[in-house]
Amino acid sequence: TQELHIVGGGMAGSEAAWQAANRGIRVVIHEMRPKVGTFAHQTEKLGEMVCSNSFRSDDHKQNAVGLLHWEMLAADSLIMRTAHAHRLPAGGALAVDREAFSQAVTDTLHAHPNVTVSQEEVTDLPDQGQWIFATGPLTSPALGEAIATVTGADRLAFFDAIAPIVHADSIDMGTAWMQSRYDKGETEDEQKAYINCPMTRADYEAFIDALLAADKTEFHEGETAGYFDGCLPIEVMAERGRETLRHGPMKPIGLTNAHTPEQKPYAVVQLRRDNALGTLFNIVGFQTKMKYGAQKEVFRLIPGLQDASFARLGGIHRNTFLNSPTLLDAQMRLRARPNIRFAGQVTGVEGYVESAAMGLLAGRMAAAEIAGQTLPEVPQDSAHGALVHHITGGAEAKTFQPMNVNFGLFRPLDDVRGGRRGRKERYKGYTDRAKAAWTDWLAAQGEGPAQGAAAE
Ligand code: FAD
Repeated sequence: TQELHIVGGGMAGSEAAWQAANRGIRVVIHEMRPKVGTFAHQTEKLGEMVCSNSFRSDDHKQNAVGLLHWEMLAADSLIMRTAHAHRLPAGGALAVDREAFSQAVTDTLHAHPNVTVSQEEVTDLPDQGQWIFATGPLTSPALGEAIATVTGADRLAFFDAIAPIVHADSIDMGTAWMQSRYDKGETEDEQKAYINCPMTRADYEAFIDALLAADKTEFHEGETAGYFDGCLPIEVMAERGRETLRHGPMKPIGLTNAHTPEQKPYAVVQLRRDNALGTLFNIVGFQTKMKYGAQKEVFRLIPGLQDASFARLGGIHRNTFLNSPTLLDAQMRLRARPNIRFAGQVTGVEGYVESAAMGLLAGRMAAAEIAGQTLPEVPQDSAHGALVHHITGGAEAKTFQPMNVNFGLFRPLDDVRGGRRGRKERYKGYTDRAKAAWTDWLAAQGEGPAQGAAAE
C-alpha cells in the first residue's frame, strides 16, 4: 500500500505517525531538526516540548483539556501515554520530565517497524502521495512561502494576535447590551451582532491606568519581525496617548446604551461573536501582551465583564497558522489539494495537547483513506470533535485565531432535565456526554478503550 509522509516530528506529527503506523501504514517522518533549527527548539528529538513542561489539567470531569487527555489515552495516544509514564508531581496538572518524555517518544517511533525518520526540511507541497503537514507554529520560512502560494497569502498568518475570548453566559447583560455600530446589517440578528460594555469617563481613566501599569510579557528574540502591521497590542496603543483607544477600538460613536439611552457612554468595549453556537465572544481589538493574571484583573474592570469567565486570554506570538475554516475540509484535507492534510498548531489550535490531538485525528483519517476506508465521523460532542469542528467549520473565518479546547466549543447541553445547571454539573454533563460519544466512536473502529483510560 501507499506510504504516508508526515512533515514535522513535533507533538502532532509524532502522534499522527504512531496512529497511522499502528494501523499497518508505512510512515516516513520528515523532520528538519537538527539540520534546520527554530528559535524555540533546543534538541533534535521528536515530541520536544518547546516551553513549559506541562500538559495542563488532567481533570477529565471538570476540565476540557483533561477530557482531551482522557480521550487520547482511550485512543492509545503515544503523546499521552508517554506523558503519563514520565509524569512528575504537579498537583492536578500533568507535568512531565521533558528530557525523558521526548527521548521516549523518539525511541518508540524509531523502534516502530512501520516508521522511518528522515532528517530533512520539506519546502514544497507535493501533488503526489499522501501527506500530513504538522510543521507547527515555527514552520520553516521556505515551507511557509510554499504554503502561502497554494492557499493565497491572506490565508496563512505568521503571527497570532489573540483578543481574549469570554464565555457569553458570564457577561452581565444588565449592564451590557446588544447592538451593531449604527445598527448596521440587513437582519435584526446582524443589527444586534455585538455585545457592548459602556464606560463612564471615570471607568475609562481607571482602565487606562490599570492597562499601563499591568505586567507584560516580552517577545522572544527573533520573534517580532514584521508583527507591528495592524495588530498593535492595546497597551501599546494606550502608551501612544490616553485617548488613542477611545478613538480606536473603544470608540463610542454609533452606539446607544439600551439601558440608559439618554446617557452617552464615554467609551465602549465591543465583543463580537466568536463561534456559530454563540457561546463565545471575543473583545474586539484587544490583542495584548499583558500577563494572564493581569489580563483578568484589567478586563474585569470593564462594566459588564466584572464576573467574566475567559475561554482564552489574549496574546501575540510568532505563530504560523492557516485560515482552516476556509481551507480545510472536515477530513482536515486542503480543499485545493486533497492529498495533503494539515495537523497540529498550524491548523489553528493552540497548545501541546490540542496539537497532538489533531495529529491523532489526522493520522487516523489518512490511514483510513490509504486503506480505502472512511473513518467514522468524529463525534462533535467529544473534545476532539468539538475542536476539529471549530477549526474546520464552526469558527468565524474572518476573525479566526488559534484556539484552546474549552467547553464553549461544545454544543450546549439540552437542559430539559433540571433547567439551568451550576457550572460543576454542566462540566460533568459535557464530559460524560463526550466520553460516551468517544467510546462509541472507538467501538465503531473495532476498539475498546486502551488500557489505562476509562478508569474513573
Ligand atoms: P511542533 O511541536 O513545533 O512541531 C513541528 C515540527 O515541525 C518541529 O519539530 C519542526 O522542527 C518541524 N518543521 C517545521 N518546518 C519544517 C519543514 N519545512 N520540514 C520539516 N520539518 C519542519 N504550547 C503549550 O502547550 N505550552 C507552552 O508552554 C507553549 N509554549 C510555547 C512557546 C513558544 C516560543 C512557541 C513558539 C510555542 C509554544 N507553545 C506552547 C505552542 C507549542 O509550540 C505547540 O503547542 C506545539 O508544540 C505544537 O505542536 P505541533 O506538532 O503543531 O508543532
